[in-house]
Amino acid sequence: MNRLATWIKHGDEIRRPLLVNPKLAKSDKIVIVGAGLSGLACAYRISEIRPDIEIKLVEKSGAPGGVISTWHDAGWICDLAVNAVRPHPAFWRLVEDLQLAKKFKPTNSDATARWVIINGKKHKLGKNMIFKLNPLKLIQNIRKSRDGGLSVAQIIPNKAIADAFTLGIVNDTSDNVDADLLIPSITKFGDNPPVSKRKLKRMMRDTYPIFKPTKRGLASIEGGMKTLNDTLVSELNRKPNVEIITNFDAESPLSISEKFSIPIESVIWTCPGWQDDYDQTTLSIFAIGYDKETVADIPKGYGTLIPDDNIPISGILHESDIHHSKRCPDGMRLFRIMVPHRRWDMDEMSIKLCVERLFNAKDPLLFKNLGEKHIPSFKPGHLSKMKGLANDCSYTGWSVSGVSITHIVDQAERIAELFQR
Ligand SMILES: Cc1cc2nc3c(=O)[nH]c(=O)nc-3n(C[C@H](O)[C@H](O)[C@H](O)COP(=O)(O)OP(=O)(O)OC[C@H]3O[C@@H](n4cnc5c(N)ncnc54)[C@H](O)[C@@H]3O)c2cc1C
Repeated sequence: MNRLATWIKHGDEIRRPLLVNPKLAKSDKIVIVGAGLSGLACAYRISEIRPDIEIKLVEKSGAPGGVISTWHDAGWICDLAVNAVRPHPAFWRLVEDLQLAKKFKPTNSDATARWVIINGKKHKLGKNMIFKLNPLKLIQNIRKSRDGGLSVAQIIPNKAIADAFTLGIVNDTSDNVDADLLIPSITKFGDNPPVSKRKLKRMMRDTYPIFKPTKRGLASIEGGMKTLNDTLVSELNRKPNVEIITNFDAESPLSISEKFSIPIESVIWTCPGWQDDYDQTTLSIFAIGYDKETVADIPKGYGTLIPDDNIPISGILHESDIHHSKRCPDGMRLFRIMVPHRRWDMDEMSIKLCVERLFNAKDPLLFKNLGEKHIPSFKPGHLSKMKGLANDCSYTGWSVSGVSITHIVDQAERIAELFQR
């Protein structure tokens, strides 16, 4: 593939380092460690291109899926991790290849509004926010960011807005988050495309199968994101050259190489936590349901971010407003609440009272703690560090060079392309 074709296929993902051992593609047997979306997508993509290669996928827990999970109960459906995907053709290609196109649709166009609560006041996010940002300073900071390694707080000159931005993606404060990782096309990390950004976007748009997304439109899958993982698992189970092994806690790439009698360069490690200085944010996820009348005053929208350490809730997502497919029984509304443990006294009643106060609506019909999730920390300088890493085996997944599912699905495609003969 020539350089322009590669950029059209992968877009700004090309800026992110691919930590692949150059000898990986020469393997006739590979072991992928971790059966989250990264491991599943790598196994699927490589096995599609090379059905002659033996692929083992080993997973520590009792079931594949990783951090992605969807809770279902009596007509309520709530994702605990990712619930919708932003546009990238690699994700659309995966959905199409898995024959999930009929279940994959844009999120509702009347639920795009987002709010942010700053100093107790709710603001709608929109073009007017630019005036709170000091555009001149913003431009100066963006120029400085081209040297690499800055935090998001060092670029966006309004701490509350910067925090809202990073909270919405990694549930961390902006001074703790690497700008190169979150916005590499703005900091100009890595290679630049051979054509202008606008032209590239236009060329990429023509490659989307299923439907062309709108500019900032998201899309989601019927039944929640678990549908994607479950489909990948059943496709992989059908392939004679792939085996998924659960309840297997891999110690290190070297231990895998010894156990499966393969060279270390035939190992793909997709689990977070392999770096010496690995750190993570822990949060609990709550589902809250009301009947429509009780919350009639809450406008339809995507959700609200709360960059305020005095409030235990960092974000509220309007799950039943967002998705094209049903997420709650008729006449109800479902909200998902994110609760970072660094802000919470661990008493569920404080969350219930906080929601009732923010919504001005008492007695939810559903109030359920769905469980804990962990998000890797991406300290300033993270992506530069990844770029310089020596790779005994290959590393991918959300702790490496991209936090969103579009990044990891695209990385799986890029890794599989190396196997093409
Ligand atoms: C609350 C929340 C909200 C999110 N929202 C979004 C969003 O809106 N948009 C978006 O794009 N993304 C979002 N994400 C991120 C997205 O869910 C992740 O990018 C993606 O699911 C990560 O997949 P992965 O396979 O890289 O990692 P994981 O899912 O973490 O998978 C790693 C797997 O490795 C296994 N493992 C670990 N150690 C070992 C070992 N030693 N041996 C064997 N196996 C091991 C684990 O059990 C796990 O199954 C969100 C995540 C969370 C938690």
